[in-house]
Amino acid sequence: MRDIYLWWIGADAADGRLLAAVRSVVERTFGRGVHVWSGRDRPADAFDPRRQQHSSTRILQWLVDRRPAEAHKVLALTDVDLFIPILTFVFGEAQLDGAAAIVSTARLRTNHGSSNVRLLTTRLAKECVHELGHTFGLLHCDTPGCVMTRSVNLIEVDAKRTTLCGACEARYRELREKDGHHEQGTHPHPRR
Ligand SMILES: [Zn+2]
Ligand SMILES: [Zn+2]
Repeated sequence: MRDIYLWWIGADAADGRLLAAVRSVVERTFGRGVHVWSGRDRPADAFDPRRQQHSSTRILQWLVDRRPAEAHKVLALTDVDLFIPILTFVFGEAQLDGAAAIVSTARLRTNHGSSNVRLLTTRLAKECVHELGHTFGLLHCDTPGCVMTRSVNLIEVDAKRTTLCGACEARYRELREKDGHHEQGTHPHPRR
């Protein structure tokens, strides 16, 4: 089964410890290998000068085009502020049941001071698991505390855990099984 690629595409240099922390949470949650990929390309046409933000949807398309061929999923991390047209900002975006996800640290930094690295790391890990969950086909969940609950502000991000609830976990296993068969090409035409 192919792996997840974690790709820093931020404006500033990557924070190795932050990436390592995200990597270990993602590996634990999804039971898949995560490679930290250090491609130096950056999306060129995602910046919107009027909004002074980057279009997350354009970045997702760029990721699909540029991801390493062996990557099953690519999760990009950035420090630039992201938006989709109908919202002021987004923490991240993912292709549902697709290959790409993006999460930004821009809105996860706190008013508790930028030195609160642990809080930033936890929030980032939650948003990364959430967006990757979408790429595996998981939808939003209503179970309080589940990482797949929708969160539109930091209070909601802080209120959830980094982990999937029992139902989402079961759904993920189910989806992964199908995905695995598909990937290995052993059941090109599933028989009943
Ligand atoms: Zn979501
Ligand atoms: Zn759930």
